[in-house]
Amino acid sequence: MGMGVAGSYLMARLKDSEHEVTGYERSTEENHDSICAWGTTKPVLAAFCKKVNRNFDDFLIHDGKNMHVKMSNDLKFDIRLHGLCTYNKLALIKDFIKDSKVIYGKSVKLEELEKEYDLIIDCTGFHRIYLPRLKEDFFLPTYEYKVEYENGVPYDDFYIEPFPGMSGYFWYFPLGEKWAIVGAGDYKKNHVKVTDDFMKKHGGKIIQTKGRPIRLATPNHCKPFYKGKVVGVGESIGTVYALLGEGIIPAMQCADIFLENMNDFAAYEKAVEKHFKIYGKVFKFVKAKINKKFSLLKSLPDFLAIFFYMKKNQDRFGMDINISDLMKVAKA
Ligand SMILES: Cc1cc2nc3c(=O)[nH]c(=O)nc-3n(C[C@H](O)[C@H](O)[C@H](O)COP(=O)(O)OP(=O)(O)OC[C@H]3O[C@@H](n4cnc5c(N)ncnc54)[C@H](O)[C@@H]3O)c2cc1C
Repeated sequence: MGMGVAGSYLMARLKDSEHEVTGYERSTEENHDSICAWGTTKPVLAAFCKKVNRNFDDFLIHDGKNMHVKMSNDLKFDIRLHGLCTYNKLALIKDFIKDSKVIYGKSVKLEELEKEYDLIIDCTGFHRIYLPRLKEDFFLPTYEYKVEYENGVPYDDFYIEPFPGMSGYFWYFPLGEKWAIVGAGDYKKNHVKVTDDFMKKHGGKIIQTKGRPIRLATPNHCKPFYKGKVVGVGESIGTVYALLGEGIIPAMQCADIFLENMNDFAAYEKAVEKHFKIYGKVFKFVKAKINKKFSLLKSLPDFLAIFFYMKKNQDRFGMDINISDLMKVAKA
């Protein structure tokens, strides 16, 4: 259920398996889209694509060299990138499902699905339609434009402005020679204003406007992962790295974990908890900052755990990870 990152990748992985699989997507085929800034890490996506005989280079748009970061007018720095890129996310989703049975434009009731299928995989992302509502959800509103620049782009590479108190950030992600995705997510709800201010300053033609909430509550806050025949994969069970609002790779990792454990939901839950344990720490850290309950002394063990995790996995994140950069963001 849901032909986003997790659902479409699962369709491709299960296509030639022993299972008979049907995909459902609420949007019509014409309106099927992906509300996202389309940023990811090249070698990681290339490895996922290889598992389903796709070549990620066919979908690559911009291979980043530097991410320009503006904390304030007086504090700007660059992060060196090695792998962070933008890609045609929608085209890859469509490619993953092109040879499979997919029913579009229909939101089906759970009772109907239960009658017809042995297993219902909830990949509906933020909506989590087929799983019980969360007791304590946590999400940010987002807003973004796809912009065309006829007279030259304002930035040649990735550009972000983290908001004070870590309540979110503004992003400019390049999409080739004359396009970009420009948007923001902000707990304090300044995201639309900041995005529009950027548009006023830099011009450009708005081609598309999109937005949806992004779930920052991590898997440890998103139980149950399964109920009856339904099991959640991806953002429906909170697989977003809260510090970056990054959910593509985690959703695909979650899909892989599901495939390894699809006959044993309890084992799946355990494996997800293990893999995403650090995500819980990251969320706790970000939430404390947003709720102004943050003390560097108290959060120091979590801060260091997050730093060491990101440093060790800097290839996975596609960028250089420096403690001084992380400190600048944490102090904001
Ligand atoms: C504005 C924004 C920018 C982002 N930018 C990035 C980024 O640059 N990089 C990154 O890594 N992550 C980014 N993320 C996060 C990332 O997009 C998600 O975490 C990731 O796509 C989650 O994948 P998913 O498959 O779990 O859910 P989704 O990709 O959200 O897919 C859910 C699908 O389910 C469908 N659906 C919903 N309800 C139903 C229903 N009842 N029946 C059938 N289908 C249904 C939806 O139409 C959708 O196609 C961003 C998120 C937002 C909101």
